[in-house]
Amino acid sequence: MRLLTLHPRSVMAIYAHPDDADVAAGGVLAQWASEGVQVHLVIVCDGAKGSHVPLTDSASLRDARREESRRAADLLGVSTSVNLNRPDGDVVNDNELRATLVGLVRTHQPDVVLGPDPTATFFAGVYVNHRDHRETGWALLDAVAPAAAMPLYYPERGPAHQVSALLLSGTHEPDVVADITRTIDTKATAVLAHVSQLAGDADEIRSVVYGRAEQAGRPIGVAYGEAFRSVELNR
Ligand SMILES: [Zn+2]
Repeated sequence: MRLLTLHPRSVMAIYAHPDDADVAAGGVLAQWASEGVQVHLVIVCDGAKGSHVPLTDSASLRDARREESRRAADLLGVSTSVNLNRPDGDVVNDNELRATLVGLVRTHQPDVVLGPDPTATFFAGVYVNHRDHRETGWALLDAVAPAAAMPLYYPERGPAHQVSALLLSGTHEPDVVADITRTIDTKATAVLAHVSQLAGDADEIRSVVYGRAEQAGRPIGVAYGEAFRSVELNR
């Protein structure tokens, strides 16, 4: 395990649900945004099925989540944010999604792309990774390596762009940790902006966010961290 030392000019976070980027990478995104890095956020799903409560109205939930994610994005300081509005549970790594992601990567030209590690399915015998996370992860891998970098893939989506590095969260094979000691509080506040998703009161959620970050930071001796599996693409 090593400390993340990338110095990108521009990054893109591609996640399935409106709260995923904040939970997985809110600290490092806020850190980079505060240093003047362009942070582009891509949310694939509309969030309209993200509830365990019977009889939830999906249209109201979608509207509420749109507002929550706007507030969270403002807190992190992201430069642009887009929702692709795929229905929750229906993400498929299809040609249309790959073409859309290639277009976004070529438009914003990020040095680093962050997103979910699609190879992780089971977590500690108590959690099955959501299929939207897995499909989004595969789609972003296919879109970045190699499609966006090769001009004959989706030529109508703009000139080719080579992303330098991938950082994959929700992984069983982390190898880098971002030091988020300066931005842990911003991260926790951004997670708390997703009011519809919170199971517990603010203090409990905050202590879960801090506890996980403390655990992630421990292997490299920082107070709070976020762990990723990294892939360098431009060697
Ligand atoms: Zn999610």
